[in-house]
Amino acid sequence: MTEAESIRNKALELGYENCGIIPIAEVDDYTEKLDERVKRFPETREKTGGLYNFANLTKRFPWAKSIVICISRYGKYRIPPHLQGRIAKYYLTDSRTDEASPDYHASRAFENYLQEAGLQTATERKFGITALRWAAIKTGLGTVRQNNFFYTPKGGSWVHMEAWLIDRELELKHTDAQKTCPKNCSLCIEACPTKSLAEPYAMNRLTCVSCLTTWDGWDIPNEPYNKEIGGWIFGCDACQDVCPFNKGKWTEDETFPGLEALGERISLEKIIEMDYGFLENVMAKKFWYIGKDKVYRWKINALNAMRNGYQESYAAYIEKACGDPNAEVRRVAEWVKGE
Ligand code: SF4
Ligand code: SF4
Repeated sequence: MTEAESIRNKALELGYENCGIIPIAEVDDYTEKLDERVKRFPETREKTGGLYNFANLTKRFPWAKSIVICISRYGKYRIPPHLQGRIAKYYLTDSRTDEASPDYHASRAFENYLQEAGLQTATERKFGITALRWAAIKTGLGTVRQNNFFYTPKGGSWVHMEAWLIDRELELKHTDAQKTCPKNCSLCIEACPTKSLAEPYAMNRLTCVSCLTTWDGWDIPNEPYNKEIGGWIFGCDACQDVCPFNKGKWTEDETFPGLEALGERISLEKIIEMDYGFLENVMAKKFWYIGKDKVYRWKINALNAMRNGYQESYAAYIEKACGDPNAEVRRVAEWVKGE
């Protein structure tokens, strides 16, 4: 068995769906993808700048020779039904920093294995040390579809990718042949509520609901897409949920640690009533794109979702939010009440 095959076997033993290895130079052409993106959406230039670090990795890691990519399925976890359409499933089952998650421990164990095998390694658990989808395509483990998500034959797009740089020249590529998107399919584009997915493979991050409910969209009353955000309060799954290549790929045969219990504490009404200690110590830890200092944002997102799917029973909660300790929540609650 080659060294590359041993690494893959270890990944499989730890529960990963698959593993591939590519020479580090294979991600250098990612700069061209970024150039194309900025040309298509010039308004994203500023937010795209930092991503150029994902290519030409030898500038930052002169010792690195190859990239190991591991894929794990998160489509195996049960999702509390009332959170479907509210919080994107990736974030409900996010193992990147969750020490209670078996996937987090598998990741640590895999890294230890590489190091014990005498390899120097580098990784970045939150956002990847390189462009994960681009590197994963080069391994042949799957394909990127028109909605921009990476798909594997077994997991559909409900897969998480991790990358490690190693100081050994190794290669392990796959040929998991997959059908391309049907020529006449545009279900993902039609499903995108903000038309952020403007055309095949072209998504404007400035108008994507996933960004508008987490990093961006800070002034909800004046946000042009506040209506289109609909009932989402953290992320969006619309362009993945409709995809025929995801049919039957979410199997719900395992429970994600703590998710059932936490789910019982989350609803639009419960978020309005949530105390700031819980938001800071529990919600900001689990859903870390909204940091401790910005947790009032949860209430704003819940108010916007109430506005977009208004029911009489929400009136008392909107009124309650008008007396919230946070001034921004009060401002948005008054706006929703006025509407
Ligand atoms: S995640 Fe939602 S908003 Fe973003 S591109 Fe997909 S469907 Fe559109
Ligand atoms: S919905 Fe259709 S076009 Fe979009 S990614 Fe899936 S198969 Fe491709």
